[in-house]
Order: sequence, then C-alpha cells, then structure tokens
Amino acid sequence: MKIHFRKIANADEPEHIHGTLDVSEAVKGRKDILSVSPLSVDLKALPAGTDTVDVAGTLRGEAVMLCSRCLAEVRTKLDIPFAETYRWLKQPLLPDDEDEDLIYVSDEVVELAPFVEENFVLHLPDSVLCKADCLGLCQTCGQNWNEGTCSCDNTVIDPRFAGLKGLFTKQDD
Ligand SMILES: [Zn+2]
Ligand SMILES: [Zn+2]
Repeated sequence: MKIHFRKIANADEPEHIHGTLDVSEAVKGRKDILSVSPLSVDLKALPAGTDTVDVAGTLRGEAVMLCSRCLAEVRTKLDIPFAETYRWLKQPLLPDDEDEDLIYVSDEVVELAPFVEENFVLHLPDSVLCKADCLGLCQTCGQNWNEGTCSCDNTVIDPRFAGLKGLFTKQDD
C-alpha cells in the first residue's frame, strides 16, 4: 500500500490504491472489541501542487463489539473516511513553518499502512449498544433486563440522606 510521489505528481489521472489491511493488532487493547475483519482500503492519490499529494477515500470493515450496557455481541459496520495530504520534504523544516494539516515525508515512496491504521483507530466507535433502548444488566444478580426482570433492590440511596435515615432509625428505637 505505497505511493510514489513523482509518479503521482506527473500523472494525468488519479492513482487508485486498493488493498486489505489486517488491523487486528491495532484493537488488541480494546476489551470491548472481540474481533475485526481486515479493512478494505479504497483510496485515490492525486497531485495537489508542488511536491504535494492528496490521498482520500474510504476504509471499510466490520467489528464484533460488546454492547456497553448488556455485553451482547454487536456486529458493527465500519465505514471510515480517509483524507490526508502528504508533502515531500527535502530539508527539515523549522517547527514554526510546519503546517499541521500536512504530513511531511522525506522518502519518494510512502507506505500508507500506518496512516490507514491510525485513521481506523481514531474513528472506531467508543462504545456501541445492541439497541438504542437496551436495558442493560442488573448490577446485583447480572440478569439481562432485556430478557426479563429480577427482584433485586437496586435503589441507590444518596449518601446525604443515608445519614438522615440512620438518624430516624435511632429515634425509632
Ligand atoms: Zn445491550
Ligand atoms: Zn437482579
């Protein structure tokens, strides 16, 4: 998944970049992601001025994630936009001269895989729900409330009133 600056800068037509990328390593740290399919990468590279190349397109895949409330497995379609501008840099720039929107590269050949992986990780959903109104699990017995109720008392007592409750109990004695 590489681009060649000079080749693209001199091309009349955009260069298409198709490929698949295994991103399973990139989600290793996410306990809510059980598996992720290889990403289908579909990008276009085109000249965008002197020593500058635009790369844009989409990354598609599918992840099996856990519902953040009831932990059910949820198949999540991933359709992630990709857009980066690369500038070929022959000499190091002073930090003040850097443009944050550009990615500076110093080789004629650029491997896109790390940028694709980074974009993928940035766009992964923080959490998913099996359905918008998922009722979640009982914190006491673990019953899935989407499947039925339980008889646990999960009433949370505000700590400020808990003190008062004790007061009244004492008076009753
Ligand atoms: Zn759920
Ligand atoms: Zn319960």
